[in-house]
Parts: sequence; C-alpha cells; structure tokens
Amino acid sequence: MKSYIVGNWKMNFTVGESSVYLHKLSARIHAYRDIEVVVAPSLVALQPLSLQIDRKKLRLAAQTANPRDFGAYTGEVSAAQLRGIVDYCIIGHSERRQLFHESDKFIRAAVAATLRNQIKPILCVGETETERTFGETFDVLRDQVLGGLSEVSAEELEKVIIAYEPVWAISTTSGASMASPDDIAEAVKFIRRIIADAYGKEISKSIAVLYGGSVNPDNAGAYLTIPGVNGLLVGGASLIADQFVDIIETAKKVKS
Ligand code: PEP
Repeated sequence: MKSYIVGNWKMNFTVGESSVYLHKLSARIHAYRDIEVVVAPSLVALQPLSLQIDRKKLRLAAQTANPRDFGAYTGEVSAAQLRGIVDYCIIGHSERRQLFHESDKFIRAAVAATLRNQIKPILCVGETETERTFGETFDVLRDQVLGGLSEVSAEELEKVIIAYEPVWAISTTSGASMASPDDIAEAVKFIRRIIADAYGKEISKSIAVLYGGSVNPDNAGAYLTIPGVNGLLVGGASLIADQFVDIIETAKKVKS
C-alpha cells in the first residue's frame, strides 16, 4: 500500500512564500511510486499553486471545504469550487472542530461533498486530553469515524484516508504529551476494527490510516513503523523544508 506524507501548512505563508517554498520542495524530492507527498497550503494559494505543481512529485490538499456546492454562504469555499484544483481535502481537523465549530453533521456532509467532487477526503479524528482522561477515547473515535463516514458507500471508502490525531499530542514540544507508538497502534487498530464491523474486513485492511501529532524528523521513523499506520499528517515540521524533506526521506527508507 502507498504511504502518505501530508503537510498541513495551516494559516502560514503568503501566496508568494507558498510558491517559493513549493518550488524549493519540488527541487529536493523525487517522484516516488509508493509515497504520495501532499501539501495543504492556505486557500488563497491553492489555485496559483495548482498551476505550478509537478503532480508526479506532489499533490495539493485543501484544509477544509464547505459541503454545499454553491449559494449564499459568505466567506465559504465549497468542494465543488475546489474540484480540479486539489486532489485531497482535510476534513474535520481538530482546529476546525474546536475553533470554528464544525459539527459532526457538517463534517459528514463535507466528506460526502469532497467525494462527489472527485476530491479524496482526509478525515481527521482524535480525542481531546479531557476525553482521554475520562477514558472516552474509543467512544470518541467510534463516533467521529462512523459519523464522518455515514454518507460514504463501501465503494467510495477506498478513496477516503483517515488521520488519527490525538488532540493532546498536536503541536507539542513536551515529551510528556507525545503519543507513544503503543497508544497509536491501539487507536489505529480500533479504527480499523470499527471500519471492519461497518464495511467488512477487506476494506478495513486496505483503507489508509495516517498518524498526526508533533511529527518531526526524529520521531517520524518510529511512527511510520507502527503496524497499521500508512503515513503521517505533519503540521509544524511541514513548514520547514529541511524537516519535511527529512520526513519524506525517512518514509522512503521505511518503505524500502
Ligand atoms: C496538525 O495540526 O494536523 C498537526 C499534526 O500539527 P503538528 O504536527 O504541529 O502537531
């Protein structure tokens, strides 16, 4: 199965800076048959970058999308408008859920809208620190995975990527809040089990499940070798070319 290294740039870089960074990145990586490198720049940069990008090396993702196609939704951008510009779209990132109040209903509809518009959703799921403390991790994962996928047919499921991102492990530099490989292995196994129960064993084995949360060049190898993990969703380290390239090279080594 392919591995995915996805860089979420969040609200960083101007359009010009995004273009320069992408150019630099592209010059430093190769076209890998077994690794899909994806970057998620901010919305304003997507269209110009879609004209610049070498799709053999890199693919573009949006960071969110409105599930409605068109209409009176001031400030929003829909999956229908992103069609042809991006190949992927991050849906349900914890920052979208927490800071912008994206509901389960919105996320479910956004997953369906991306698929309807030939865009592969990267559905983010993960428990908060409080939910973890109260022993609710598996309940949260079940609700977010089954909720996010509830409008997805078994045939469409192979186009979906799930990213397990424990919210407490995102953007942390404290060793104490890094997710351990055992924690991640257990969560990923559980995600595959609920997909198996809902859609069957075959698809649960073939769906890509990524890990995200403070990934850097030093820990990428350990995270990439966790059974059931097919790649990484990288925030902070994806903004530094040297680090992101290192992570991609680590993925290449793990693959070979
Ligand atoms: C993220 O926000 O998706 C993320 C994984 O960020 P970081 O790598 O900075 O923890």
